[in-house]
Amino acid sequence: MALSVRLLPEAGGTLLWDGESYDPRIPYPPGSVVNIMIRPTGGYQFAGWTGDVPVGCQDDVPLQLTVGEAPQEVIAHFVPVRKDVPELVFDADFENGNGILRYNLRNSRGLVIEPLQVNAADNIWWHFKIHGITPGEFLQLQIVHSPATEPDFAGDSPPVYSYDGVTWHRFIGAKSPFIQKFTAPSVEIARNIPYPYSRTLALAAEMAGPYVQVLNLATSEKGRPVKAFRFTDPGTPDVGKRIVWVMARQHAFESHSSWYAEYLCHWLLGDDPFADDLRRQAITYIVPIMDVDNVYAGGSGKEQLGADGRRADFNRSWVEDSPWAAIRAAQRLLERLCQRHDVAAFFDLHSPWYPNTPSWHIPRVMEEQGQRFADIWSKALEDTGTSIRWKHRLMISGQGDQDTNREPSYMVTSTQYATRRLLDRPTEHIYMVIETAHWHDGYGNFITLDSLRAYATALGRALVRFWQNG
Ligand SMILES: [Zn+2]
Repeated sequence: MALSVRLLPEAGGTLLWDGESYDPRIPYPPGSVVNIMIRPTGGYQFAGWTGDVPVGCQDDVPLQLTVGEAPQEVIAHFVPVRKDVPELVFDADFENGNGILRYNLRNSRGLVIEPLQVNAADNIWWHFKIHGITPGEFLQLQIVHSPATEPDFAGDSPPVYSYDGVTWHRFIGAKSPFIQKFTAPSVEIARNIPYPYSRTLALAAEMAGPYVQVLNLATSEKGRPVKAFRFTDPGTPDVGKRIVWVMARQHAFESHSSWYAEYLCHWLLGDDPFADDLRRQAITYIVPIMDVDNVYAGGSGKEQLGADGRRADFNRSWVEDSPWAAIRAAQRLLERLCQRHDVAAFFDLHSPWYPNTPSWHIPRVMEEQGQRFADIWSKALEDTGTSIRWKHRLMISGQGDQDTNREPSYMVTSTQYATRRLLDRPTEHIYMVIETAHWHDGYGNFITLDSLRAYATALGRALVRFWQNG
């Protein structure tokens, strides 16, 4: 056999294999790509790979390699767990934190963690800290009882970690159990780059100058202000200005969408000539977090159980007399704006299911201009001069759509509401849901904060160009 895997010592661990990872019974022809997954056994810790391992991959679990022509051998090293080091300490008791420690596997430096189900919603968000790490050690983290980690649920995507809460890195592994090396005594880990509620308060304190007004859109059910920002150039009269509406985080676990909104706020206050144009032509409203209570509590917000015993999804509650104050307030504001202005753009920022790539949901009535806007946006992204990309998938949805028909009548999404209540003529209008992926851009590149900044810039510039081209 061309490839062999040795465990050193043999008692230190086991090889794990399933349909996707290395199986020693299978002969792999040259050119095959294999993922080698190991698991330490009690009393041992993983300590890295040696042998025919690609440069820079000595700490990767799973280890991905391409089988060559010559025989290859990789060695998985294990070391006995030390008894003279601090114990691991688990903490999820902070804003946006979520996780219950089920077991501290002291004998193998592992933790078994279960995400808490907030309001009986799908428990697909987790966010916690681990202290007491011996820098350089590999921890074993098992996330259990979450649909995002069930084998059949296609919830795989690598979580993120940070030592300072500012710079975020990706795990190597995309599914539990995760075996990851950490190089500092404390680490913060989340399903994706977190954007806690307090960040909108900080943003509100930071946004200043003649072009922005900070508003409280509503007070949430738990008494938290829902912050909104209004951007325009007061030097140009408001009469005749278009309205641009951007909101994020109707689903609390979709943290990337709030970053997108925040970067759009910064762009709108910046010195890009396109931002200047947009400030003169439009009044832009941005709400970075709609479901503030679930974001605060670390809930996912997906399909939560309402007081009336019905499953109520925030984004499908754009009905009259919605159960959420933020939605009622948004509707009142939009309908007031609609009387004097044209609500010309309506963007509802989301993130799709974990492994999914970026997509846009465009109401059927806007199919033509949705396609046109996508082309303009892609060009605007290219023009940012970054190498940041996004593989488009346009999904045309709306009235007459099969999925819409299957939904109970009490469910109305934001874009269904907007096309029914705010849209007088589709031309020059663009209403859509932007699903910014958690993981990668469709070409295999990780989505980072830089990507989200570039997407926001492209969105702002594309709007100006969209109206220029008419
Ligand atoms: Zn969503």
